Amino acid sequence: MSITSFMPPQRILMGPGPSDIYPQVLQALSRPTIGHLDPLFIKMMDELKQLLQYAFQTNNSFTIAVSAPGSAGMEACFVNLVEAGDKVLVCRNGVFGDRMRENVERCGGVAIMVDNAWGEPVSPALVEQALQADPEIKVVAFVHAETSTGALSDAKTIAEIARKHQCLTIVDAVTSLGGVPLLVDEWQLDAVYSGSQKCLSCVPGLSPLTFSEKAIAKIQQRKTAVQSWFLDQSLVLGYWSGEGKRSYHHTAPINSLYALHEALVLLHNEGLEQAWQRHQRAHIELKTGLEALGIQFVVEEAYRLPQLNAVYIPEGVDDAAVRSTLLERYNLEIGAGLGTLAGKAWRIGLMGYTARSENVALCLKALESTLK
Ligand SMILES: *Cc1c(COP(=O)(O)O)cnc(C)c1O
Repeated sequence: MSITSFMPPQRILMGPGPSDIYPQVLQALSRPTIGHLDPLFIKMMDELKQLLQYAFQTNNSFTIAVSAPGSAGMEACFVNLVEAGDKVLVCRNGVFGDRMRENVERCGGVAIMVDNAWGEPVSPALVEQALQADPEIKVVAFVHAETSTGALSDAKTIAEIARKHQCLTIVDAVTSLGGVPLLVDEWQLDAVYSGSQKCLSCVPGLSPLTFSEKAIAKIQQRKTAVQSWFLDQSLVLGYWSGEGKRSYHHTAPINSLYALHEALVLLHNEGLEQAWQRHQRAHIELKTGLEALGIQFVVEEAYRLPQLNAVYIPEGVDDAAVRSTLLERYNLEIGAGLGTLAGKAWRIGLMGYTARSENVALCLKALESTLK
């Protein structure tokens, strides 16, 4: 066998995630591993919780990072908040809304769908209509930032409507956290999950998660045990906030948590609002350049995510050939279209550390010369 160390190239990641990782975050990852019940590690975890509360703009005491990627954060919300027979309103305007439906059904719940076309935001009027039509619905689930299409939905308004109908909200904030305003307490969102590798520019494999008091109360009132042992948050709570008597649940991904701590320190030092503005500036630069190349956006301007730019592939252009040229010649990754947009759109990510002018300039130059 002649296998040696794996040496990946230095790419620029302008796809739908992972994004480029801050060098300081990669350094944090290589610091010495200590025990996950070591008093110093527990101190780090307490800081991590405060930093996550800042990123989510919440005082929720249940604010943690699930030891698994964003999909596990999604699943943690559904398995804890949905019991067999529960009716859940699921808003679907892209790939991730449909995954929410699957989660509801696998929990034995009944998914009632509100559909909007790919590229459109979730319609609050349709949510209102569906809740009026069925008073048995207990939970409203939606994706704040649909990474498959680049559309931003109005989380504040959807949550208001849900509350009016005594429903809890489950919110996918995987791509929104750190990239666009997300105000968990002000908008009174109940169960919100995210991912480490999008606008936080940390290594993949962790899912920030926060539950409101109302969500915790619903979990405490469950009639049946959560079917997933690993994702049962009542068990995890003992590890994250055991107040000096933390008990073993699973071995924390210690070094990855150092990395998340570092990424959140960087976000805090920059300031959330400054980070949102930086994403917006990079988006405007990209938009100006793409329009000069005659490239059109999928999403209407008012609902565009700055961190995920879905654009139509110009007619007659070979999708795969362009993407592989960008990768091989410029070390630049952009995302392919998903689902109904496969082969029709590219998804250009400007997430976290990637959202900088120099990357926008490189992407525009590389696209221009490749398209020629
Ligand atoms: C990336 C993403 C996920 C899944 O996260 P993973 O870390 O890949 O499991 C879920 N929802 C949205 C909106 C995403 O962009």
